[in-house]
Amino acid sequence: MSASERHCDLLVIGSGMAGMSAALFASNRGISTALIGNTGGMRFFSGLLDLMSVYPIASGKIWENPWEAIRMLSKDHSCPHPYSRIKPDIMKKAMDDFMVFLSESGLSYHIDPDRNQTVITSVGTGKQTFGVPHTMTAGVRAFQEKSPCLIVGFPEIKGFSSRQVQETMGKSWPLLRLLNVRFPGGFHVLYPEQAAKEMEHEPCREKLAEIVLPHLKDAAAVGFPAVLGVQNSMDVHRDLEKRLGVPVFEIPFLPPSIPGLRLQMVFQQQLAERGVQTFFQEPVDKVPALDSGGFLLDIGEGTDHFRIRAKGVILSTGRFFSKGLKAERTGIRETIFNLPVCQPADRTCRHNTDFFARSGHDINMAGLAIDDWFRPLDRSGRPAFSALFAAGSILAYQDWIRMKCGSGLSITTAYAAVEAFVQQVLGHDF
Ligand SMILES: Cc1cc2nc3c(=O)[nH]c(=O)nc-3n(C[C@H](O)[C@H](O)[C@H](O)COP(=O)(O)OP(=O)(O)OC[C@H]3O[C@@H](n4cnc5c(N)ncnc54)[C@H](O)[C@@H]3O)c2cc1C
Repeated sequence: MSASERHCDLLVIGSGMAGMSAALFASNRGISTALIGNTGGMRFFSGLLDLMSVYPIASGKIWENPWEAIRMLSKDHSCPHPYSRIKPDIMKKAMDDFMVFLSESGLSYHIDPDRNQTVITSVGTGKQTFGVPHTMTAGVRAFQEKSPCLIVGFPEIKGFSSRQVQETMGKSWPLLRLLNVRFPGGFHVLYPEQAAKEMEHEPCREKLAEIVLPHLKDAAAVGFPAVLGVQNSMDVHRDLEKRLGVPVFEIPFLPPSIPGLRLQMVFQQQLAERGVQTFFQEPVDKVPALDSGGFLLDIGEGTDHFRIRAKGVILSTGRFFSKGLKAERTGIRETIFNLPVCQPADRTCRHNTDFFARSGHDINMAGLAIDDWFRPLDRSGRPAFSALFAAGSILAYQDWIRMKCGSGLSITTAYAAVEAFVQQVLGHDF
């Protein structure tokens, strides 16, 4: 091996929720892992961990119990959602392991094992989700009980309006009040990341509590836009609750999302600590397959150039927005391995003529068809490569936005792909 060559067992391509989770689960199993890809996408992510709440899409049926919904969709053989390839106990294990990871990393989440929870959104709706950041849980309770509650907004932070929350929810929640106050520090405009960093300073929280306290009156809880710290949100949240003397909660709002950024930072830090070789913000063009069954990836140029040899790859490059898939006039293609993509018969069938059709658009079910080992299939229906696996939103037969299963899909398919890699490539049992 030359100085510019590195070896690993598993190479994960794509650093969104699926890629990060795959690297996490692989490192949990002691597999030598490299993770490469852009990370920016996580800043769009609300921080809520959806598992499944809408099925079938066309009826818009909302499920309180996500596992029941998954059980129902697993019976639909006409459209094999990736969940249908994972046993329920393995899915639960994946979600449990992920929650343990978050809590050990200082970013606690709350789950009700068999129930979705309803989180207040910035547009004044209630959103069903499975895993809720600890900093948002008091809002779940307040919404459930419709208790007296104060929603605080700041004119400096665009994209969050306490008035919108109060006006939309007010009819069904008459005890909801709004408060608009200046953010401490005399800012003109505040970006979410800036506000979150300000909140990490004690004098900022002290001043904020001073401003809010006179308006508290009968409020049993206080909601803020989700900017309660980036690095130490749990401490910021705890301190604000202490100062106000009532439960405090965050409301997720438009990207860039601070809860998404928190998750990204935790992943970046923890994966490096666990020995994962990370190459963030490195675009990947191609990954040639070796005759030996492994893969080779060239990174960088000139004196910075080096090679990674891997026994197997997990592809988790997402869909169109992230550029894992590309829609062209002639068809939709996968961008790194040129794998066949399950897609509507032609361009005219990609979208429904009714843009807001509840059934969605066929293009949103496009993606990679896989076998039971999460290996993408070639045109003949066989695994394209024996050691190539796929996870996350690049998989076909799911519309995670409408089914509200984004993170659950990423986490559980990443887990399944790692287990498949272990069995198929490393030859161990799980
Ligand atoms: C705006 C928004 C809001 C969301 N809100 C929620 C929510 O409320 N609840 C929920 O559960 N989920 C939510 N999600 C979805 C959740 O984050 C998904 O799990 C996710 O987007 C799908 O994850 P993924 O890792 O499969 O793909 P992506 O998140 O798309 O990640 C793929 C990554 O691969 C990288 N990549 C692609 N091609 C290459 C290449 N050639 N070289 C290097 N890197 C590459 C991309 O840059 C990207 O970072 C949200 C997502 C978005 C975008």
